[in-house]
Amino acid sequence: MSQSTIPLSSPDVSEEDIAAVTAVLRTPRLSLGPKIPEFEQAVAAFTGVKHAVAVSSGTAALHLCVRALGIGDGDEVITTPFSFVASANCMLFERAVPRFVDIEPETFCIDPANIEAAITPNTKAILGVDVFGQTADWNELERIAAKHHLALIEDSCEALGSSVGGRQAGAFGDCGTFAFYPNKQMTTGEGGMVVTDRDDIALAARMMRNQGRDPDSAWLEHKVLGYNYRLSDIAAALGISQLKRLPQFIEKRARVVSWYAEALSPLHEHVRTPLLHDGTDVSWFVYVVRLADRYSASDRDRLISLLRERGIGCNAYFPCIHLQPFYQKIYGHKRVEFPVAESVSDHTLALPFFTGMTEKQVAEVVSVLTEVLAVL
Ligand SMILES: *Cc1c(COP(=O)(O)O)cnc(C)c1O
Repeated sequence: MSQSTIPLSSPDVSEEDIAAVTAVLRTPRLSLGPKIPEFEQAVAAFTGVKHAVAVSSGTAALHLCVRALGIGDGDEVITTPFSFVASANCMLFERAVPRFVDIEPETFCIDPANIEAAITPNTKAILGVDVFGQTADWNELERIAAKHHLALIEDSCEALGSSVGGRQAGAFGDCGTFAFYPNKQMTTGEGGMVVTDRDDIALAARMMRNQGRDPDSAWLEHKVLGYNYRLSDIAAALGISQLKRLPQFIEKRARVVSWYAEALSPLHEHVRTPLLHDGTDVSWFVYVVRLADRYSASDRDRLISLLRERGIGCNAYFPCIHLQPFYQKIYGHKRVEFPVAESVSDHTLALPFFTGMTEKQVAEVVSVLTEVLAVL
């Protein structure tokens, strides 16, 4: 495979971000220092929630949500098969069982209409995912969770800055999560955050991220089983600096989306551009197009390799979680169980998308895509 001339994604790190990081490196407080609460307060204020707890990754944030809610052995959590694998793995860490239900064909988010039929006496929670930045139908998910006394987790690792009806992504349900890997809207290198209005969840997450220590107890006293899921002050400083720039990132990414929409319109018989829920302000994570139904999954895979050969970064987003080899092995999942998710997964591909992408780069991607579609 040749080197991509236009990458699939790329972080936007400024001289100001670098200065914020090096300033921490000139102090002795590289971890458990002042940058952590500063970053947490900034994220809590941005999201409009009471507490934010910084952790080492989005996966760690999801794991702590599951544990803080007391979800364990044999409990079932209803979730989507069309997501990054971590959104279901967090249940397996605690021997809980992900009960997948199919998604909405337009938004690719969990379809609330499928949830009630999947509820059993063992169901403890619903975990919804804001896919590619598009928020799930949280009003409906909150209604179903309340009606059946289920906990509700929002995996908002792809949607920092999206909002619906004036509420920020991450603020729905009992608790939400963000992630700061370099392909996300903003980055700390590696990092994540639990956000919640619930004091008990925030305290549990704070203790568990730091080896089970009570914030008030002695250093070597461990009240509960914990982990080292701490974020460093170096990473938090980058987070504070990036968060200040997030509104610009979101705006620039929206501009790239509109360039794509225009450039791709002559190809509308081949590829469909993303559709949005009414009333949603999307903070775009990745730019995923869907091939027309007449294309097969192997056409899509061939398209990806041809694009890559021409230097265009791209990827199949997402392979379904229930069809990942170890999920098939553990739970015996098969194709045809979730036809909407499987069909979407077979027909979608992510095109190059990042904050600093230029209109010229968008035009080049679309021109190569046009040529490659003609020979497919
Ligand atoms: C990125 C992401 C995560 C968390 O990822 P980390 O790499 O652990 O930070 C979780 N869920 C979804 C849907 C994601 O896209």
